[in-house]
Amino acid sequence: MSLINSWENNVRKVVPYTPGEQPKDANVIKLNTNENPYPPSPQVKAVLENYDCGKMRLYPDPDSTVLVEAIAERYKLKPTQVFVGVGSDDVLSVAFLTFFNSDKPVIFPDITYSFYDVWADVYRIPYIQKPLTEDFRINPKDYKCENGGIIFPNPNAPTGCEESLEMIEEIVKGNPDSVVIIDEAYVDFGAESALALIDKYENLLVIQTFSKSRSMAGMRIGYAMGNEKLIKYMNDVKFSINSYTMTPLTQLCGAEAVRDEEYFQETLSKIISVREYSKERLSQLGFTFTDSKSNFIFASHKTKPAGEIFTALKEKKIFVRYWNKPRIGNHLRITVGTREEMDALFAALEDILK
Ligand code: PMP
Repeated sequence: MSLINSWENNVRKVVPYTPGEQPKDANVIKLNTNENPYPPSPQVKAVLENYDCGKMRLYPDPDSTVLVEAIAERYKLKPTQVFVGVGSDDVLSVAFLTFFNSDKPVIFPDITYSFYDVWADVYRIPYIQKPLTEDFRINPKDYKCENGGIIFPNPNAPTGCEESLEMIEEIVKGNPDSVVIIDEAYVDFGAESALALIDKYENLLVIQTFSKSRSMAGMRIGYAMGNEKLIKYMNDVKFSINSYTMTPLTQLCGAEAVRDEEYFQETLSKIISVREYSKERLSQLGFTFTDSKSNFIFASHKTKPAGEIFTALKEKKIFVRYWNKPRIGNHLRITVGTREEMDALFAALEDILK
């Protein structure tokens, strides 16, 4: 008897992405999925409190106008230059499907967001991964070959390293026949956005999210910004799959969050200052790390293997992220939490390392 039934030959088989663990236990100090430790803008709470549930009878606005217009206003764009989706994962997935439709391979780094190869596989897109340098940097020369598209995060994940706008421009300019996607999930924590280049380069798409800097991972809001033609192509694909991706509540909450600039800046500066403090403490504990411009630190201990530290922290109910993979198997990715959470982490590390 065959192990696989004949209908299974026609199944689209994929190895799925593994998201970071979401523990059921509320007492865990959760520094494993780069969530923001602070709540979203109080304006978001006001939307929820005043929401009329009767409206749930109706389908949402398929164009998410209120949210698209709020994002466009914040970034000084036309609404036709903004695409919104269910977290940047959804936006990235639509972008892969829309723009990476060539027989030539898409290029991205070997160490990067581990969803890229999953989307490439599920959509049957050929790809090649270019090794980062020894110190985890992108070599722009690697992106000077024939390709069917280019994508990388800036700052990169899980390294936290920022690449310069000059280097990004060199890549975008050198590849006029491909769409270049810059995944800016972490850009607000101190890196320079490529948004300034979207009017200059028709082939540049910038993707951001409300999950990190706007404290709304649970609401699932991501967005892409680019020239009108790119956005129209993405909407054509989106409206060929699911018109109603954003609930009315999501649209309203997102619009309020993006209008509250003061709260946004206040939260960012708290995280950046705790990140810099955490770098000092990690150094004192014998860790080395890249110069993170994100809300996490990619650290390696001089003597104790990362896998052992990961397990010991987990026993103490402190979750960080660890990948047992080539080149990064001795690193931990530690999300920047509140000052109190980080102090609890350092106390636990002191104990583990003594
Ligand atoms: N891009 C990068 C580089 C990320 O690390 C993440 C978070 N897992 C995402 C995109 C997706 O985030 P979200 O779907 O919550 O916007």
